[in-house]
Amino acid sequence: RGVPPVSVFANSTAHWRHLDAAHHLHPFSDTKGLNAEGVRVITRAEGVYIFDSEGNRILDGMSGLWCSAVGHGRHAIVDAIADQLRQLDYYNTFFKTTHPGAAELAAAIAQVAPEGFERVFFTSGGSEAVDTVIRMVRHYWAAVGKPGKHIFIARKNAYHGSTIGGASLGGMAPMHAQGGLPIPGIVHVQQPYWWGEGGNMSPEEFGLFAAQEVARAIDEAGPENVAAFIGEPIQGAGGVIIPPSTYWPEVQKICRERDVLLVSDEVICGFGRTGEWFGCQHMGVQPDLITFAKGVTSGYFPLGGVIVGERVAEGLIEQGGEFHHGYTYSGHPGGCAAALATLKIMHEEDLVARVKCEIGPYLQERWLPLANHPLVGEARMVGLIGALELTPHKETRAKFPGEVGTVGLIARDISFREGLVMRAVRDSLILAPPFTLSEEEADDLIATVGRVLDQTLAVVRDRGLM
Ligand code: PMP
Repeated sequence: RGVPPVSVFANSTAHWRHLDAAHHLHPFSDTKGLNAEGVRVITRAEGVYIFDSEGNRILDGMSGLWCSAVGHGRHAIVDAIADQLRQLDYYNTFFKTTHPGAAELAAAIAQVAPEGFERVFFTSGGSEAVDTVIRMVRHYWAAVGKPGKHIFIARKNAYHGSTIGGASLGGMAPMHAQGGLPIPGIVHVQQPYWWGEGGNMSPEEFGLFAAQEVARAIDEAGPENVAAFIGEPIQGAGGVIIPPSTYWPEVQKICRERDVLLVSDEVICGFGRTGEWFGCQHMGVQPDLITFAKGVTSGYFPLGGVIVGERVAEGLIEQGGEFHHGYTYSGHPGGCAAALATLKIMHEEDLVARVKCEIGPYLQERWLPLANHPLVGEARMVGLIGALELTPHKETRAKFPGEVGTVGLIARDISFREGLVMRAVRDSLILAPPFTLSEEEADDLIATVGRVLDQTLAVVRDRGLM
């Protein structure tokens, strides 16, 4: 049955590819296509770079999967996890017990969270955090005597995870098409994606229009039936969609007027990505609940959770009784140690301020002018999260002929070859590098993007796509 796990071929790309193709089912992958192409094997990482099994050094422009905030190879975090696991490898937080790491991390998160956020429920990642929100919010409304409020309003093209709840709240059509999603009780509305869907409106007009779609959905369902609205401050997986400035304040007003809770899914934006501790602070809104994961441990250990604002916390605690919900790894000691060590680094190196005032503006100054390239219609970036919209015609914001995403993938593949990880979403390229990116590395990154755009343009012209 193929090559045994340890063989004379050990420690070679071919060996790992063989085992992987034979036994590993990858997330969000077409296994047949992937195996035909041959998977990339990443063997180590240091700073802002990853290294593959062929020895290539690649700038990790996506921070892994939006998580490696403080960069790779941080021994302080590794040591903190190891020390913790030697002391207490595991114990649960269900049955009238806690451990120092869970208590200290909950307090450390409350310390950086917006005012009025004092309580944290831990999960193993973002999807579980989103599922926790669904159950917690519905339980809250029942506890305070409004059990009718159960419907969630979410956006088309949102990403809220891959569990049944998360994928249902998310608005990804290809995900809904598999396995009979979404679950009932969820209404998806217009996303605030001006470049793609704003038509002839100005961005500001379109922001208000998209917000009014939230109002319309709530009113149609009846505010007495609507539990919450959930949104990412900036849609990440959907293509780094930065809403027009008019959008979030209007959504908040609409939710307040209708007594609908506001959930900020900060799995990507949380813990500094936008230059504030949380993306909602950048957008100037005060949500009722915040989900987080990824950056909180910088990816060194899986951990996520929900930060619960005053109102919901009080209802839950005073009137909710037992909340029948929890995960074996809620508050895993290793995850808590990783998060505490990550936060310590963020504080000591002032990394959130660095994103806001130093490396963020430095990269933005060089990223935004990429809009002058013939292939780029819009370049946008907040903090260290950005996108380039590729188009054959800037003025009309036109799409390329043929299948959507073809040009994005061409550019993404060229980027990898040129030594930079960017991700393609439709025909856009997205970027979210570690907060520790140096100015020199930023210069290198921008130079690489320039080469990627030039080479992509040549291919696009060659194929008559422009
Ligand atoms: N919400 C958002 C906004 C996300 O970006 C993600 C992951 N990309 C999730 C939820 C799901 O998190 P996880 O993959 O850790 O389950």
